[in-house]
Amino acid sequence: APNLTVKDLSVAIEGKEILKGFNIEVKGGEIHAIMGPNGTGKSTLASALMGHPKYEVTDGEVSFNGKDLLEMEVDERAREGLFLAMQYPSEISGITTADFLRSAINSKRGEGNEISLMKFIRQLDKKMEILEMDEKYSQRYLNEGFSGGEKKRNEILQLLMTEPKIAILDEIDSGLDIDALKVVANGVNAMRSPEFGCLIITHYQRLLNYITPDFVHVMMQGRIVKSGGPELAARLEAEGYDWIKEELGIED
Ligand code: ADP
Ligand code: MG
Ligand code: MG
Repeated sequence: APNLTVKDLSVAIEGKEILKGFNIEVKGGEIHAIMGPNGTGKSTLASALMGHPKYEVTDGEVSFNGKDLLEMEVDERAREGLFLAMQYPSEISGITTADFLRSAINSKRGEGNEISLMKFIRQLDKKMEILEMDEKYSQRYLNEGFSGGEKKRNEILQLLMTEPKIAILDEIDSGLDIDALKVVANGVNAMRSPEFGCLIITHYQRLLNYITPDFVHVMMQGRIVKSGGPELAARLEAEGYDWIKEELGIED
Protein backbone atom coordinates (compact mmCIF):
# COMPACT_ATOMS: atom_id res chain seq x y z
CA ALA A 1 0.00 0.00 0.00
CA PRO A 2 1.14 3.59 -0.63
CA ASN A 3 3.17 5.32 2.04
CA LEU A 4 4.70 8.76 2.35
CA THR A 5 6.83 9.28 5.42
CA VAL A 6 8.35 12.66 6.17
CA LYS A 7 10.84 12.70 9.00
CA ASP A 8 12.32 15.80 10.63
CA LEU A 9 12.21 17.68 7.35
CA SER A 10 13.77 21.12 7.25
CA VAL A 11 13.59 23.27 4.15
CA ALA A 12 15.06 26.66 3.35
CA ILE A 13 14.21 29.17 0.65
CA GLU A 14 16.99 31.54 -0.32
CA GLY A 15 18.81 30.68 2.88
CA LYS A 16 15.81 31.26 5.13
CA GLU A 17 14.60 28.21 7.01
CA ILE A 18 10.85 27.73 6.52
CA LEU A 19 10.20 24.12 7.47
CA LYS A 20 11.72 23.20 10.79
CA GLY A 21 11.57 19.54 11.64
CA PHE A 22 8.34 18.56 9.91
CA ASN A 23 6.94 15.06 10.49
CA ILE A 24 4.03 13.19 8.94
CA GLU A 25 3.13 9.73 7.71
CA VAL A 26 0.42 9.32 5.08
CA LYS A 27 -0.72 5.80 4.17
CA GLY A 28 -3.03 4.38 1.56
CA GLY A 29 -6.66 4.75 2.59
CA GLU A 30 -5.97 7.85 4.68
CA ILE A 31 -6.89 11.46 4.16
CA HIS A 32 -4.88 13.95 6.18
CA ALA A 33 -5.64 17.64 6.38
CA ILE A 34 -2.99 20.21 7.18
CA MET A 35 -4.35 23.52 8.38
CA GLY A 36 -2.51 26.58 9.50
CA PRO A 37 -2.20 30.34 9.31
CA ASN A 38 -0.83 32.00 6.19
CA GLY A 39 2.92 32.01 5.77
CA THR A 40 3.50 29.03 7.99
CA GLY A 41 5.11 26.89 5.30
CA LYS A 42 2.25 24.75 3.96
CA SER A 43 2.96 25.44 0.29
CA THR A 44 6.68 25.15 1.00
CA LEU A 45 6.07 21.62 2.21
CA ALA A 46 4.19 20.77 -0.99
CA SER A 47 6.82 22.29 -3.28
CA ALA A 48 9.70 20.68 -1.42
CA LEU A 49 8.07 17.25 -1.65
CA MET A 50 7.63 17.68 -5.39
CA GLY A 51 11.27 18.63 -5.76
CA HIS A 52 10.99 22.28 -6.73
CA PRO A 53 14.61 23.44 -7.21
CA LYS A 54 14.13 26.64 -5.23
CA TYR A 55 13.43 24.73 -2.03
CA GLU A 56 16.55 23.44 -0.35
CA VAL A 57 16.20 20.45 1.94
CA THR A 58 18.61 21.16 4.79
CA ASP A 59 17.72 18.24 7.03
CA GLY A 60 15.50 15.19 7.33
CA GLU A 61 14.30 12.28 5.25
CA VAL A 62 11.34 11.50 3.04
CA SER A 63 10.46 8.02 1.93
CA PHE A 64 7.85 7.29 -0.69
CA ASN A 65 6.74 3.68 -0.99
CA GLY A 66 9.98 2.65 0.62
CA LYS A 67 12.21 4.69 -1.70
CA ASP A 68 14.18 7.81 -0.90
CA LEU A 69 12.02 10.55 -2.40
CA LEU A 70 14.67 13.21 -2.06
CA GLU A 71 16.97 11.25 -4.37
CA MET A 72 14.35 11.13 -7.13
CA GLU A 73 14.15 13.51 -10.08
CA VAL A 74 10.98 15.59 -10.29
CA ASP A 75 9.43 13.59 -13.14
CA GLU A 76 10.37 10.35 -11.40
CA ARG A 77 8.33 11.43 -8.35
CA ALA A 78 5.27 11.86 -10.55
CA ARG A 79 5.89 8.58 -12.35
CA GLU A 80 6.12 6.80 -9.00
CA GLY A 81 2.67 8.15 -8.18
CA LEU A 82 3.14 11.37 -6.24
CA PHE A 83 0.77 14.11 -7.31
CA LEU A 84 0.64 17.79 -6.49
CA ALA A 85 -2.30 20.07 -7.16
CA MET A 86 -0.89 23.53 -6.82
CA GLN A 87 -2.28 26.58 -5.12
CA TYR A 88 -1.58 28.54 -8.31
CA PRO A 89 -1.77 26.22 -11.35
CA SER A 90 0.17 27.47 -14.35
CA GLU A 91 -1.21 28.07 -17.81
CA ILE A 92 0.29 26.19 -20.70
CA SER A 93 -0.27 27.64 -24.11
CA GLY A 94 -0.44 25.43 -27.19
CA ILE A 95 -1.27 22.18 -25.46
CA THR A 96 -4.83 21.12 -24.89
CA THR A 97 -6.03 19.73 -21.60
CA ALA A 98 -6.75 16.38 -23.26
CA ASP A 99 -3.27 16.14 -24.82
CA PHE A 100 -1.68 17.12 -21.54
CA LEU A 101 -3.60 14.44 -19.65
CA ARG A 102 -2.82 11.79 -22.23
CA SER A 103 0.88 12.49 -22.14
CA ALA A 104 0.85 12.57 -18.32
CA ILE A 105 -0.82 9.14 -18.30
CA ASN A 106 1.54 7.77 -20.91
CA SER A 107 4.67 9.00 -19.21
CA LYS A 108 3.55 7.05 -16.14
CA ARG A 109 2.69 3.95 -18.14
CA GLY A 110 5.96 3.99 -20.04
CA GLU A 111 6.97 3.35 -23.62
CA GLY A 112 5.23 0.51 -25.38
CA ASN A 113 2.40 0.59 -22.85
CA GLU A 114 0.56 3.73 -23.96
CA ILE A 115 -3.15 4.04 -23.29
CA SER A 116 -5.32 3.50 -26.37
CA LEU A 117 -7.15 6.54 -27.65
CA MET A 118 -10.52 4.81 -27.17
CA LYS A 119 -9.80 3.93 -23.57
CA PHE A 120 -8.44 7.39 -22.87
CA ILE A 121 -11.56 9.06 -24.23
CA ARG A 122 -13.82 6.73 -22.28
CA GLN A 123 -12.00 7.52 -19.06
CA LEU A 124 -11.91 11.22 -19.78
CA ASP A 125 -15.68 11.27 -20.36
CA LYS A 126 -16.32 9.38 -17.17
CA LYS A 127 -14.10 11.58 -15.00
CA MET A 128 -15.36 14.82 -16.52
CA GLU A 129 -18.85 13.70 -15.70
CA ILE A 130 -17.92 13.25 -12.02
CA LEU A 131 -16.60 16.80 -12.06
CA GLU A 132 -19.58 18.16 -14.00
CA MET A 133 -17.21 19.59 -16.58
CA ASP A 134 -18.31 20.52 -20.04
CA GLU A 135 -16.71 18.40 -22.77
CA LYS A 136 -15.27 21.47 -24.43
CA TYR A 137 -12.73 22.03 -21.63
CA SER A 138 -10.67 19.09 -22.75
CA GLN A 139 -10.02 20.79 -26.07
CA ARG A 140 -8.99 24.10 -24.55
CA TYR A 141 -5.39 24.99 -23.89
CA LEU A 142 -4.36 23.96 -20.41
CA ASN A 143 -5.62 26.49 -17.88
CA GLU A 144 -5.45 29.30 -20.44
CA GLY A 145 -8.25 31.70 -19.71
CA PHE A 146 -9.70 29.28 -17.18
CA SER A 147 -11.39 30.87 -14.20
CA GLY A 148 -9.99 30.10 -10.76
CA GLY A 149 -12.70 27.50 -10.24
CA GLU A 150 -12.10 25.88 -13.63
CA LYS A 151 -8.38 25.58 -12.89
CA LYS A 152 -9.11 23.82 -9.62
CA ARG A 153 -11.54 21.46 -11.30
CA ASN A 154 -8.91 20.80 -13.91
CA GLU A 155 -6.37 19.90 -11.22
CA ILE A 156 -8.85 17.37 -9.85
CA LEU A 157 -9.44 16.03 -13.34
CA GLN A 158 -5.69 15.40 -13.52
CA LEU A 159 -5.92 13.64 -10.19
CA LEU A 160 -8.72 11.36 -11.38
CA MET A 161 -7.07 10.65 -14.73
CA THR A 162 -3.54 9.94 -13.54
CA GLU A 163 -4.59 7.94 -10.45
CA PRO A 164 -1.61 8.71 -8.24
CA LYS A 165 -0.83 6.77 -5.06
CA ILE A 166 -0.38 9.83 -2.87
CA ALA A 167 -1.75 13.29 -3.68
CA ILE A 168 -0.96 16.63 -2.12
CA LEU A 169 -3.71 19.15 -2.72
CA ASP A 170 -2.62 22.68 -1.88
CA GLU A 171 -5.51 25.09 -1.26
CA ILE A 172 -7.63 23.31 -3.81
CA ASP A 173 -10.62 25.09 -2.27
CA SER A 174 -9.44 28.68 -2.59
CA GLY A 175 -11.65 30.83 -4.76
CA LEU A 176 -14.34 28.19 -5.18
CA ASP A 177 -18.02 28.90 -4.76
CA ILE A 178 -20.02 26.35 -2.84
CA ASP A 179 -21.16 24.37 -5.89
CA ALA A 180 -17.65 24.07 -7.30
CA LEU A 181 -16.41 23.15 -3.84
CA LYS A 182 -18.84 20.24 -3.66
CA VAL A 183 -17.85 19.05 -7.11
CA VAL A 184 -14.15 19.17 -6.24
CA ALA A 185 -14.88 17.29 -3.02
CA ASN A 186 -16.81 14.65 -5.00
CA GLY A 187 -13.76 14.18 -7.17
CA VAL A 188 -11.46 13.64 -4.20
CA ASN A 189 -13.98 11.35 -2.51
CA ALA A 190 -14.19 9.30 -5.71
CA MET A 191 -10.47 8.57 -5.31
CA ARG A 192 -10.84 7.16 -1.80
CA SER A 193 -9.44 3.64 -1.66
CA PRO A 194 -6.82 1.64 0.22
CA GLU A 195 -4.55 2.33 -2.76
CA PHE A 196 -4.72 6.09 -2.39
CA GLY A 197 -3.55 8.45 0.33
CA CYS A 198 -4.18 12.18 0.37
CA LEU A 199 -2.74 15.26 2.04
CA ILE A 200 -5.12 18.18 1.86
CA ILE A 201 -3.65 21.57 2.64
CA THR A 202 -6.25 24.15 3.48
CA HIS A 203 -6.54 27.45 5.26
CA TYR A 204 -10.25 27.02 5.91
CA GLN A 205 -12.33 24.23 7.36
CA ARG A 206 -15.04 24.63 4.70
CA LEU A 207 -13.70 21.95 2.33
CA LEU A 208 -13.56 19.48 5.21
CA ASN A 209 -17.33 19.65 5.51
CA TYR A 210 -17.39 17.69 2.24
CA ILE A 211 -14.23 15.62 2.51
CA THR A 212 -13.98 14.07 5.94
CA PRO A 213 -10.32 13.70 6.87
CA ASP A 214 -9.09 10.88 9.05
CA PHE A 215 -6.47 13.15 10.60
CA VAL A 216 -6.21 16.89 11.02
CA HIS A 217 -2.87 18.55 11.69
CA VAL A 218 -2.22 22.13 12.63
CA MET A 219 0.93 23.63 11.22
CA MET A 220 2.64 26.68 12.70
CA GLN A 221 6.08 28.11 12.18
CA GLY A 222 7.21 25.32 9.93
CA ARG A 223 6.08 22.25 11.81
CA ILE A 224 3.03 20.35 13.00
CA VAL A 225 2.10 21.57 16.45
CA LYS A 226 -1.11 19.66 17.03
CA SER A 227 -2.90 16.65 15.54
CA GLY A 228 -6.36 15.24 15.99
CA GLY A 229 -9.46 14.15 14.13
CA PRO A 230 -12.12 16.12 12.23
CA GLU A 231 -13.26 17.76 15.47
CA LEU A 232 -10.00 19.70 15.53
CA ALA A 233 -10.87 21.34 12.21
CA ALA A 234 -14.29 22.28 13.54
CA ARG A 235 -12.74 23.91 16.60
CA LEU A 236 -10.31 25.88 14.43
CA GLU A 237 -13.21 27.12 12.35
CA ALA A 238 -15.09 28.23 15.46
CA GLU A 239 -12.20 29.63 17.48
CA GLY A 240 -9.36 30.39 15.08
CA TYR A 241 -5.74 29.61 15.86
CA ASP A 242 -5.12 31.77 18.92
CA TRP A 243 -6.02 29.10 21.47
CA ILE A 244 -3.34 26.83 20.03
CA LYS A 245 -0.78 29.61 20.17
CA GLU A 246 -1.68 30.20 23.81
CA GLU A 247 -1.58 26.51 24.59
CA LEU A 248 1.88 26.23 23.11
CA GLY A 249 3.18 29.60 24.20
CA ILE A 250 3.83 30.68 20.60
CA GLU A 251 4.22 34.41 20.01
CA ASP A 252 3.45 36.01 16.65
P1 ADP B 1 1.66 29.02 3.46
O1 ADP B 1 1.44 28.15 2.29
O2 ADP B 1 1.49 28.31 4.76
O3 ADP B 1 0.85 30.26 3.43
P2 ADP B 1 4.28 29.39 2.30
O4 ADP B 1 4.93 28.05 2.31
O5 ADP B 1 3.72 29.87 1.02
O6 ADP B 1 3.21 29.45 3.46
O7 ADP B 1 5.33 30.47 2.80
C1 ADP B 1 6.11 30.30 3.98
C2 ADP B 1 7.15 31.39 4.07
O8 ADP B 1 8.11 31.22 3.03
C3 ADP B 1 6.61 32.79 3.92
O9 ADP B 1 7.32 33.61 4.79
C4 ADP B 1 6.91 33.13 2.48
O10 ADP B 1 7.10 34.50 2.32
C5 ADP B 1 8.20 32.38 2.24
N1 ADP B 1 8.28 31.91 0.84
C6 ADP B 1 7.49 30.99 0.26
N2 ADP B 1 7.83 30.76 -1.03
C7 ADP B 1 8.86 31.61 -1.27
C8 ADP B 1 9.68 31.87 -2.42
N3 ADP B 1 9.47 31.21 -3.58
N4 ADP B 1 10.65 32.78 -2.30
C9 ADP B 1 10.87 33.43 -1.11
N5 ADP B 1 10.15 33.24 0.00
C10 ADP B 1 9.15 32.34 -0.07
MG1 MG C 1 -0.12 31.24 1.66
MG1 MG D 1 0.17 28.25 0.66
